[in-house]
Amino acid sequence: MTNEHSRGEQTKREKAQLAPRGQSSASVFAELFARKSADADWHHGRTFNLVYPTGRSDLDELLIEANMAYVFENALNPLKFPSLGSMQRDVVEMTSALVHAPEGAGAGFSSGGTESIFLSVLVSRERAREEKGITRGNIVFPESAHPAFAKAAFYTGLEIRPTAIDASFAADVHSMRDAIDENTVLCVGSAYGNPHGIIDPIEELSALALSREVPFHSDSCIGAFVLPFMERLGYDVPAFDFRLEGVTQMSCDVHKYGYSTKGASVVVYRDEAWLAHQTFDYDVWPSGRYRTASMAGARAASPIAAAWATMRYLGEEGYLELMSSLMATTEKIRTGIASIDGLRVLGNPIGPLLTFTSDNDDIFAIGDVMDDRRWNLNRTARPHGLHMMISPLHANYADEFLQDLSDAVRHHGPSRGIGAGYNERS
Ligand SMILES: *Cc1c(COP(=O)(O)O)cnc(C)c1O
Repeated sequence: MTNEHSRGEQTKREKAQLAPRGQSSASVFAELFARKSADADWHHGRTFNLVYPTGRSDLDELLIEANMAYVFENALNPLKFPSLGSMQRDVVEMTSALVHAPEGAGAGFSSGGTESIFLSVLVSRERAREEKGITRGNIVFPESAHPAFAKAAFYTGLEIRPTAIDASFAADVHSMRDAIDENTVLCVGSAYGNPHGIIDPIEELSALALSREVPFHSDSCIGAFVLPFMERLGYDVPAFDFRLEGVTQMSCDVHKYGYSTKGASVVVYRDEAWLAHQTFDYDVWPSGRYRTASMAGARAASPIAAAWATMRYLGEEGYLELMSSLMATTEKIRTGIASIDGLRVLGNPIGPLLTFTSDNDDIFAIGDVMDDRRWNLNRTARPHGLHMMISPLHANYADEFLQDLSDAVRHHGPSRGIGAGYNERS
């Protein structure tokens, strides 16, 4: 027995054990909400990533009700819960239509952008093996591509080839051209790239991939629910989807600017037949045949219901209304930042995300003051900057944000550094 124990203190192991008797639900929730009070306060527009709030209580209530209706179900077997199978089909079809998937395209539902990208990389590796006999493949992506591509390569045993971005923070086409070889199984571009909110030249990149007979993934985890609505509102939007012949696959997150709660994304392929490569089918188990089309086995049902309910409830009109107010807020924040002494937005982002830096001050020192005022701005490493994904809710907080930012520029101390966890984000 340890000294701590004889003094009556609990060891770490004892604390972690299941208590002999349960607590009352009141005391469980008292502790739960006490712990939760230290979390980022997204309700009051304090976060610029991770949560994408609309500020619409009707939509929040719909999301809660849709989640609640499926808290106990399991999406592993849609034959037992046909409602889940049919809602999943509706979500992937509505999303495919948004990005102009052609006749004969196929799509799957997944738990998020990372899983959609994993599936796309897996499918590309399998196609390359089957169609070209490639056994030691590589994937080529601009260094601004989401880490999910490197993570997928890690899982699937592919080599990664990050390529350069240019002074405007967009993928450099020459660098990608140089990196492609006969073992390249997939090329990538982002619409939007997360670090700087810049859209890569998808038209040129996908044409390059097509000319080398390599599949091309347009990562529209952010853009799929932003760019189609900006286009309908009359903004000048570059081509990024299946209307480009070279785009063979796309990832589209419903749980970002589709405004659904977490756990909903869609991966779309130009050819429905490729879906077979992401399906695992096993029939020598004593229990019989086991077949899944994504990574998980037992799987939450709520995200399917939430994604479906959100898309049905908002419709095109609802998304257009949100987008139009979001763009007004973005414009206000963007011009507000540019009018503060020394601050500058990186590149020329055309949507609701941006990164800014300072020509006069240490931008991380400014970020520290913003942290102290309980704003949550991610740091970017190259170049040093503060990163924002603006949501419709920020309409109510833009003035307060800009006031605090301008104070922070005038009154800050030395920087505390890049900060813990700056890169642990979505
Ligand atoms: C968020 C994001 C991802 C990853 O999506 P998760 O839902 O976080 O897994 C991939 N690509 C881009 C461009 C993203 O912004």
